Amino acid sequence: MDVFRHKKSLSQWVRQGKARGMRMGFVPTMGALHAGHLELVGRALKENDLVVCSIFVNPIQFNKAEDLEKYPRSLEADLRQLEDIGCDAVFCPDTREMYPEKDARVFDFGHLDKVMEGRYREGHFNGVAIVVDRLFRITEPDKAYFGEKDFQQLQIIRAMVRMEGHPVAVVGCPTVREPDGLALSSRNARLTKAQREEAPGIYQALQKAREMFPANDTNEIIRAVTEQINASPELELEYFEIVKARDLLPATAAHASEKVMGCIAVHAGDVRLIDNLSLNS
Ligand code: AMP
Repeated sequence: MDVFRHKKSLSQWVRQGKARGMRMGFVPTMGALHAGHLELVGRALKENDLVVCSIFVNPIQFNKAEDLEKYPRSLEADLRQLEDIGCDAVFCPDTREMYPEKDARVFDFGHLDKVMEGRYREGHFNGVAIVVDRLFRITEPDKAYFGEKDFQQLQIIRAMVRMEGHPVAVVGCPTVREPDGLALSSRNARLTKAQREEAPGIYQALQKAREMFPANDTNEIIRAVTEQINASPELELEYFEIVKARDLLPATAAHASEKVMGCIAVHAGDVRLIDNLSLNS
């Protein structure tokens, strides 16, 4: 496995592969890799000739310095896991390499980044869009893989790809969960024992919403989910929203003929967890 710290050397490697007619798969991550990330890399390996994974904790997508500081980092273990699974190349630049000068672009995502994560984490998706746009320009992938765990992010990436005209197919991959339903996340490692025991309640609340939709009024479902989460002394709901998958606008039972998602963010102490579930497909 080739490990690149510089754009130029990775670009050369990519160009050489492409000149030999290789199909390029790309998996962007922030490291602290777990089985969810590896699922994306595994799928990329199946569908492409060469796969690049990036590991970069992107400072401009964090709106709280403390969150950036506390983000788990485990580069050595990450590289071992990627090598074991058969990844071809890893890109792990430092911040100066990624942003030699400030990137002040502001994307207009309309409604997409005004709701849910966008509302609670100002500037987050603009930072995500900037880094993924830059990574696409370096890795020139045919296909890029993103988790449905970050459903809103997936829609933002699709919008950015359309806006920038990147010739890449964006592939959304199902959320990988622990046996008790908790979505895998690098942040789970920061949960206390008590928080970890309660955290599967997030998925249980989403399943409850799925059982209730569309027979019940959405306000009723939101109330039930809120009560269920806040009944746990370890969990506190930030938001639960029921939205159309297509445009993230609020959904009601009247939209049951198209894909409707329940999206949730929960605080367990100072750890913020997000998850989502299709309510009708
Ligand atoms: P991150 O390193 O958290 O930025 O995640 C990198 C990629 O892995 C993103 O596309 C995430 O959506 C995806 N991902 C994270 N957790 C999971 C999971 N539990 N299942 C599937 N994909 C995931």
